[in-house]
Amino acid sequence: MNMKILPLVWNVNLGRQQRPVNNHTDYSQQRLSLLKNPQNDVFERSSISFKGERPEDVPASRAPLEKLYKYHLTCLCCGREMIEPEEIQKLANSGVLSCNAPEAIEILNKYEGNMHSVEKEVFGILKEKAKKYPDLNFQQILTLIKDEHEKPLIATQFGIFKMIEKASENINPELKKEIKELIEEEKQLILEGNNQFRRKRFVNKFEQILSGRKNSATKEHLIRLANKLPTAYEDKNAFIVKYSTKPADAIGIRLLSYSMCTIEHVRPKNPKTTNGENHLFNYIPECMRCNSFRQDRPMIQQLEEHPEMFFNSQRLMNRLVDFANRGKLSKWYIVKIQDRVKQESEGLLDLNIDNLNMSRKMRREYAKLQEDPVEPKYTVDDEMAELRAVYRPKTQQENTETEYRGDFNKKKSSKNKNNNTEDITPKKKTNKELKREQIKRLHQAKYGKKREETKRR
Ligand SMILES: [Zn+2]
Repeated sequence: MNMKILPLVWNVNLGRQQRPVNNHTDYSQQRLSLLKNPQNDVFERSSISFKGERPEDVPASRAPLEKLYKYHLTCLCCGREMIEPEEIQKLANSGVLSCNAPEAIEILNKYEGNMHSVEKEVFGILKEKAKKYPDLNFQQILTLIKDEHEKPLIATQFGIFKMIEKASENINPELKKEIKELIEEEKQLILEGNNQFRRKRFVNKFEQILSGRKNSATKEHLIRLANKLPTAYEDKNAFIVKYSTKPADAIGIRLLSYSMCTIEHVRPKNPKTTNGENHLFNYIPECMRCNSFRQDRPMIQQLEEHPEMFFNSQRLMNRLVDFANRGKLSKWYIVKIQDRVKQESEGLLDLNIDNLNMSRKMRREYAKLQEDPVEPKYTVDDEMAELRAVYRPKTQQENTETEYRGDFNKKKSSKNKNNNTEDITPKKKTNKELKREQIKRLHQAKYGKKREETKRR
């Protein structure tokens, strides 16, 4: 079996993301860089391959992201390099992993780096055992070693049940009885063989029993304990016992499937709470494990459970920005998803997209998005400082300049936006060139807005 894998040609520049401050909302800096590098625009125009530069031109489809799967994106949450679903599908369809363990291991070796920790541990055990039993397949090996892994599993499970019973000693006798009955039922299932215990099912029943009880420290404690029961994706013993009954190729696929690249809804698709839409602007690549583990819970919770997301999400975003700059992804997607991630993480994940090459037009639109209704972050002072730095050497005009700025600030704070710019130009000004520059800039700022309003009409 010759599975070819595309070499990783996209250079993830980790150094680039290390800027301590995310200043993408700082309009003045964007403008400054634009003034300094007018060729940015030329580059942007020549490289763009996405039609339209407006957000509404971006299709809702997830296809643009799916096309990037083959470049081995890293997971938003855990940061693992993800496997293209097509690759896993091909392996599953071929059934090739039913073969004896040594051959299956040869096929899976190249994916070892993609595997999650439990899968990697189990793969390690399979490799070890395959040396000793080269004629057995994955299932036969797991069956052979099942007992030695079931013992510690049962000890852990029964230990947690004991803790739950102890913690529920002081609650209402009715509930206590119900909990005891549920635990006895589950113990029975465990001892029947093949450890049919499933944490998800248990926790659901458990929470149902406690649902009538008002929130308290005891209830929280009980639920926390129930969630400590081992599952196949967190515990190698649970994995081995659970999968010892599955076909060999299913075991092989399971070692990879949780590392598969999937699409996550940044705003969860939960009609009861948020109803995150099915749109590219709400999609971000994430591995299957992180995706299914999060379910439809808020992103802020995922972040609390996985603070490594602070690093990993920026790493993925750098990659996506790179694709957008190469015309493989919409630039508006970058801007929108940056904003969406920030919203859903309650401002905590404020990803840096400074490296996105925006056209002049897009930059203007983007700046408008950034202006919140309260007050834009840049000030007239910033703008004037920029102008001075870029266009004017220090001269005797400095004094009149200060006077002029003070005057303008007053007008701005009175929110009278329809002021004629002529009125606020100092009469004492003698340097005509400077004056023209200033008027031109102010007009530009207003002109942009007016043109936008006319368009909407
Ligand atoms: Zn992940």
